[in-house]
Amino acid sequence: MPDTHDALHAPVLIAGGGIGGLALALTLHQVGVPCLVFETVPQLQPLGVGINLQPNAVRELFDLGLDEGALDTIGVQAREWALVGRNGKDVYSEPRGRLAGYRWPQYSVHRGQLQMLLYRAVCERLGADTVRLGQRVVGYRHEDGRVVATVEARDGSRREATGALLVAADGLHSAVRAQMHPQQPPIHWGGAIMWRGTTPGVPIRSGASFVGLGSLRHRVVFYPISPPDPATGLATINWIAEITVDNSQGWTQGDWNRRVAVEDFIHHFEGWDYGWLDVPAMLRGAREVFEYPMIDRDPVPTWVDGRVALLGDAAHVMYPVGSNGASQAIVDARVLGAALVRHGVGPDALRAYDDALCADVSALVLRNRGAGPFGLLGLVDERCGGVFDDIDAVIPAAEREAFMARYKAAAGFAIETLNAAPPTIAPGARVQG
Ligand SMILES: Cc1cc2nc3c(=O)[nH]c(=O)nc-3n(C[C@H](O)[C@H](O)[C@H](O)COP(=O)(O)OP(=O)(O)OC[C@H]3O[C@@H](n4cnc5c(N)ncnc54)[C@H](O)[C@@H]3O)c2cc1C
Repeated sequence: MPDTHDALHAPVLIAGGGIGGLALALTLHQVGVPCLVFETVPQLQPLGVGINLQPNAVRELFDLGLDEGALDTIGVQAREWALVGRNGKDVYSEPRGRLAGYRWPQYSVHRGQLQMLLYRAVCERLGADTVRLGQRVVGYRHEDGRVVATVEARDGSRREATGALLVAADGLHSAVRAQMHPQQPPIHWGGAIMWRGTTPGVPIRSGASFVGLGSLRHRVVFYPISPPDPATGLATINWIAEITVDNSQGWTQGDWNRRVAVEDFIHHFEGWDYGWLDVPAMLRGAREVFEYPMIDRDPVPTWVDGRVALLGDAAHVMYPVGSNGASQAIVDARVLGAALVRHGVGPDALRAYDDALCADVSALVLRNRGAGPFGLLGLVDERCGGVFDDIDAVIPAAEREAFMARYKAAAGFAIETLNAAPPTIAPGARVQG
């Protein structure tokens, strides 16, 4: 049965109740625009492992009323970002979040708990009925100055929902993006395989450090996503073990997100024991391990088709090397909200959103493909094969800092720029009409 609304109050339809879709629902509510979220899974569950929320995204969550008290329940405030060579010696380190001078912290959180936090806020503020579970958006068409989405239930039955706009936050395998860009090439895999898990452990260095250890093509990344338990001193340590292999045959596993046994890959990290960190013990300590290929998609020239827009991974799935996939999805939602405030609920707002983000974020996708901030480890490999006593003799401090500053500027979290920026959406701003 068509889900019709009168012309003035047709809701914004959102495909996908992930991080981006739910951040958008909260934003629309804040600026006075009704919305409906269609989410394909029958029940939201706290899936995934650790992710980072950069200060530019934390600022937006604070502006949505999800403050420090709320975010402290799902993660920890990051204090340091560090790269360490395979020889165990520091390549680069810098403070993060407030310690670095940002007005907002950076958080390392559990992805699923963040999603549930956003979901609870949507249910409390907009009503649980806003999120239609077990409903997959499979296509759209424009009709009479509206957009009509085709929505499929789990039993295969289909119905239509009419909205003022459709925003596709339906992730990596976005059905809406496939319709908008039918010629898009298949998913791109550069040859990196990541194994991910969490293990109880004592946090090292600052107590809340993100550490990348190894070389560009063979490394482990780890950081705590919980504070230490006062009784045991153990925190939840999120880790990613990664190797890069020849990708000329393509990715042969049909499943992008599967559980594997630690014995399947531990041999790549045998002997990585530094005293201050025993990598094989950390990997063996995980209850379950997931294998992910490092994948992305070639950028598309636009994220907008009339009254339909892409957002989050549907718009710009990227390698997770810069820890900014979830952050960018949140920022997208806020930039779209600001465009609606400025231009009203219609195609002009979507065009303004596209102009503001598509070209720059697409460039970031390609920059991350080139290793993102881990590129510094690539320079170490190139210049000394990873063998060094004094890192200054390999990459002078000024060069290391300039490299990182370029990345942060491209990713939208340069300190001075962000601290001085006015709020994306002014407090109290509402969409007129
Ligand atoms: C189950 C899961 C686990 C993840 N784990 C990690 C992790 O451990 N580390 C990490 O860095 N990133 C992880 N990600 C990706 C990460 O959440 C995103 O990169 C980032 O948060 C951007 O968010 P997004 O809202 O664009 O996409 P996502 O968070 O992927 O959300 C997309 C949502 O859309 C739903 N959906 C898909 N197709 C349709 C459709 N046709 N109609 C309606 N709904 C649809 C999905 O079920 C999902 O809830 C995970 C994503 C998922 C879905």
